[in-house]
Formats: sequence, C-alpha cells, structure tokens
Amino acid sequence: MLVTVLGRYSPYAPVGGAGPGFVVQTGGVTLMLDGGQGTVARLQMQVRTADLTAVLVSHLHPDHIADLHSLQYLIADQAPGRDPLPVYAPDVANPDRHWLEPTTFCARFMRLLPLPVDEGISFGPVRVTFARTDHPEPCWAMRICDGSRTLVYTADTGAGVDLAPFARSADLLIAESTFVAANGQNRKGHMTAGEAADLARRAGVRRLLLTHFMPSTPIADAEAEARAVFPASEAAAEMRTYRV
Ligand SMILES: [Zn+2]
Ligand SMILES: [Zn+2]
Repeated sequence: MLVTVLGRYSPYAPVGGAGPGFVVQTGGVTLMLDGGQGTVARLQMQVRTADLTAVLVSHLHPDHIADLHSLQYLIADQAPGRDPLPVYAPDVANPDRHWLEPTTFCARFMRLLPLPVDEGISFGPVRVTFARTDHPEPCWAMRICDGSRTLVYTADTGAGVDLAPFARSADLLIAESTFVAANGQNRKGHMTAGEAADLARRAGVRRLLLTHFMPSTPIADAEAEARAVFPASEAAAEMRTYRV
C-alpha cells in the first residue's frame, strides 16, 4: 500500500504548500482522502484521472473540501468516458455540502454519496471503516486495510475522543498535529504533536506521520515533541510517497 501526501497545511496553505489531501494506492484501487486547497493540481502529478476509484471526505470544513468542487471538471475534461467518480462525504446538515454537488453539466461525471460511517465500505480488496472524532464539525477517522497492510488517518480531531482502539496496530498512522505544546493552548478539536504521538504509542502502531500543520507551527519542533513520546514519528512531507 502506498500513500502520497498531497498537502499538509491548515487552515490555509503557505507559499508553495497545499491543504489536507492524500492518495492511497493498493491492489488496483486508488483513493483520494480529503481535498484541501491545491490538492487537485497535485493529484494529477500522482494519478491518471481515469484511475481514481473514489474520494472519501472526512468532514465538511472548507480546508478539507476546498478543491473538490473542481474535481468534476477534471473528470469532464480529462476522462469523460470513465464511470462517474463517487465522492463520499458525511451526510450532515451543513450547507457547505452543496459545494461538492456536481453541476447539471457534470452530473454524469461525478456522484455525491453519503459517507457510509456505520457500515464501512469496500473497494475490491480494500476495506475502509470509520470512527467519529473529537471535532466541532462531525468528522470521521478512516481505517484502510488491503488484507495485509493497514493505514489509519485521524482526519481532524482533538484528544477528547480516544482513537487508540480504532488505530490499534496500524502499520502507519497519519495523525493531525496542528500545533505543538508551545502554541496549542487554545486548541479545540485539534491535537498537538505530543498528543498525536501519545495516540500512536497507546495504539501500538508501527509508524506515525504528523500532518495538518498550522503554517506557523515549527515542524522541527513538532517532530522533536512527537519523538520524545513515540520515536517512530516524522512530519509528513508534501508530494512524498510512503510505503505503508
Ligand atoms: Zn476541521
Ligand atoms: Zn482541517
């Protein structure tokens, strides 16, 4: 299983950076997780449009869906003959969900569907299950297993919900680490690097990738803070592909 980091910043992207987004590739399945600002351009560096299996949206905060309105035009322009791209997003009462709705012109290129948070979903050999996180907007972490490797993505969460049972023994945990201890006093629904590392340690995962950085958060400090708790920690690098 391969995972490529399209962007690692929130709530805005600094010069040359991008918002939250990942591509997971395994067993002939290609999933995009979230689509923050700048991710659709980067998606095209990694994936042929026709090969994208589905998009999974963790929650409807703008930093996670900013680029997804344009995805329908990417399909229309580059792969009009493919099956409509399924975009799974939480079916919650948030007017921003309309941002993901295809236009009349693009209705045959993209399909907006509810994120199956209770039952989970399978794409070929890939099984995806969900867990509600600690966040002001309803948000779901994702556990992605291809039968041999397991990736867990926390999406946005504070430390108020214990995701350790959900992330148990994952090969790779991608955890949000918006802050470090020094700038994280007023965090609500977000974690510090130390909290992300504590989750990794308690869940017994093999490796931790930190992401969702406030651009002013010093990334070297985040790595140091995490490694003091869980040594197999590193900051996600944009457009780097990791083997899970
Ligand atoms: Zn959020
Ligand atoms: Zn976010």
